[in-house]
Amino acid sequence: MLVDTHAHIQMRQFDSDRESVIAVAEAAGVWRIIVPGTDVPTSRAAVDLAARYPGRVFAAVGTHPHDAATLDTAALETQRELARRPGVVAIGEIGLDYYRDLAPHETQRAALITQLELARALNLPVILHNRESHADLVGLLREHGAGVRGVFHCFIGDQTMAREALDRGFWLSFAGPVTYPRNTDLAEVAAWAPLDRILLETDSPYLAPQPVRGRRNEPRYVEMTARRVAELRGMPFEDLVAATTRNAAELFALPMAPREEEPECASLTP
Ligand SMILES: [Zn+2]
Ligand SMILES: [Zn+2]
Repeated sequence: MLVDTHAHIQMRQFDSDRESVIAVAEAAGVWRIIVPGTDVPTSRAAVDLAARYPGRVFAAVGTHPHDAATLDTAALETQRELARRPGVVAIGEIGLDYYRDLAPHETQRAALITQLELARALNLPVILHNRESHADLVGLLREHGAGVRGVFHCFIGDQTMAREALDRGFWLSFAGPVTYPRNTDLAEVAAWAPLDRILLETDSPYLAPQPVRGRRNEPRYVEMTARRVAELRGMPFEDLVAATTRNAAELFALPMAPREEEPECASLTP
């Protein structure tokens, strides 16, 4: 059973077939989906979706660095309120993006700091977006991230960057890019990172894995990324799935399947 720890299935790209996307994913073994917000409306939509699929779809509430300028006092208060709703498992996605550079760096940094504080106050993990901004992100986490845990989502980088994230207690999540040819630094990281600190995601509708590259990405394709990471690590697919699912359940405090919730001794009862 797989977990897609990052899929924006609340977005309009899924308006025509959202239900079947969730059903098809579940049939393909993707039994939990985490839906991150990128601003207040998409966070609210994620929370609503989690309410419609309790125990299967979970939400993260946050403002993306692209939308950092929208995080005023009112938006922050709305996020604080949304983040307390059932099915919310993280603050995200938040972070820095100096690649697309859609908001001034100062604005991005301020939004990140505020939301790190929100995560700490609510005792929720964070889902971090990081593009061409690694040094600043690690610096901000050092200064403002004490006591905050979370994941570097769609990790793209080399071992040095990975080690900086891991050393700060963060997890690494692999998405479609790990399946792309010639991504050798990232392949090395996926092969080397500690098994108990890695997660899988699609980042749907973006970044579809190699076999379906260019198409709309969706949660069921997380299996392709899982197969690639298992291959890179030289381990059985089933073991990689079991480990990453356990990791996701631990970081995001996801409920396990009823079967797995039973205590060991239950098998002794007739
Ligand atoms: Zn992102
Ligand atoms: Zn995302």
